[in-house]
Amino acid sequence: MNLRFTKTLAFRLTLLYSVIFSTAFLLVFAVIYIVVERALFENTDTDLLDDILEIQETYKKGGLQGLKVYIQEETRDDGPENLLLRITGPEGLLYSSDTSTWGDIPIIGPNGPGHDEGQPVFTTFTIPKRPALKARSMWFPVGRYMVQEAVPMGWDQSLLGELRHAFFVGALFTVFIAISSGWIMAKRTLSKVKEIDRVARRIAEGNDISQRVPLRGTGDEIDSLAATFNAMLERLESFVQELSDMLDNTAHDFKTPLARIRAMAETSLQNKDVESVHGALVQIMNESDRFLSVLNAIMDISEAKTGLLTLKREPVPADELFEEVASLFRGISKAKEIRFNAWPYQDGEGMLYVDKRRILQSLLNILDNAFKFTPSGGTVAFWYERQGGWVVFNVSDTGPGIPEAERSRIFERFYRHDRSRSSPGRGIGLSLAKAYVEAHGGKITVKGSSPSGSTFSIWLPFSCCH
Ligand code: ADP
Repeated sequence: MNLRFTKTLAFRLTLLYSVIFSTAFLLVFAVIYIVVERALFENTDTDLLDDILEIQETYKKGGLQGLKVYIQEETRDDGPENLLLRITGPEGLLYSSDTSTWGDIPIIGPNGPGHDEGQPVFTTFTIPKRPALKARSMWFPVGRYMVQEAVPMGWDQSLLGELRHAFFVGALFTVFIAISSGWIMAKRTLSKVKEIDRVARRIAEGNDISQRVPLRGTGDEIDSLAATFNAMLERLESFVQELSDMLDNTAHDFKTPLARIRAMAETSLQNKDVESVHGALVQIMNESDRFLSVLNAIMDISEAKTGLLTLKREPVPADELFEEVASLFRGISKAKEIRFNAWPYQDGEGMLYVDKRRILQSLLNILDNAFKFTPSGGTVAFWYERQGGWVVFNVSDTGPGIPEAERSRIFERFYRHDRSRSSPGRGIGLSLAKAYVEAHGGKITVKGSSPSGSTFSIWLPFSCCH
């Protein structure tokens, strides 16, 4: 992320914060202003309305003359600049209080609006003689006449003026606070994004995938983005590590079989006899098949380790798996003169939700080893049981056993103990079984100590409902 881009982004975020802040302030102010203004008008109108009854009573008692006297007295008490009272009749203006401080204000006669309805008519106007001042006026019918009462809204106006003034000061503060806090917030947010960018850049430039973004522990979205970014790097790192391990191992281990295949092809080229060429080709084919199956196993292990292996899961009864594997080894046990004790589980059904081919392969690898390492006259036992939420397949043998120190290493790819060099194998049977079982959410354990044989157990999560 370059500096200019960061600055523009910070500027935009600040602008956004300021606009949001200011709009909210404006809205709140507008609502307050409208509410206050309405309340002030209502107050003035109520005062004006209060006088209607009194004026009508005066008219009833004293007629037009009584009204004129009333107007004189009222305007004398309040001051003619603070109260305007006028009477109109069909012929026009009949009587008015002193309008020298008011100026020329239009009149409404008895035929004007309001007379027929008998309702007072309210208006607001600017006093011509005092242009800074507004007045509230009420026309209402009295007998055959219309009477106007108007009062200046000086106090109300100054209150609204104060309110507007307060708004301008408040608006200045709001904009200042909005801009400064917006800038600080934008800077804080962007500094973390910049940190993520810096790490990504360093990885891209230097190929060092072990870099991580330090977390602040604030728990906000940016921190969670950094955590996700780190988790992604973690995953990527294990993927790259796995890939490079696999390449190292395979390059080393494939040299011999490839050289052998090449030697076979070379010898058969020098051979003129069709029969022996044919024999050599069959050998090459077999060797290539073996080679391919090892390659597939290695790829499966890598995929399982990096979480990319796709399992074709299906519901499989545990005894079906057990029987299929056991039947394969009954013949072998006879040929090798090894006693084979295979006991299916008696106390109930064990249903598994697994990729059958891969779990069969894992069981085969374990049993294959047991028969491989157990001498004639020995015993291999195979049974399964339920333990809590697990279905556990066990294979125990009376072979040489596995020394404690070696137990964790035997699951490594291409690991073979020196004493096993004479037996056939490539050292990937156990690592493949482990990768498959773990991809199913299970585990493989090994017990027993050298020289009294060993017991391997495959633990698979029991599934009741699939
Ligand atoms: P391979 O059998 O092809 O050598 P594995 O991955 O299956 O490869 O086993 C790795 C190593 O673990 C073997 O070479 C052997 O040393 C040890 N091992 C596995 N199973 C047994 C067993 N049942 N008894 C003794 N050693 C065993």
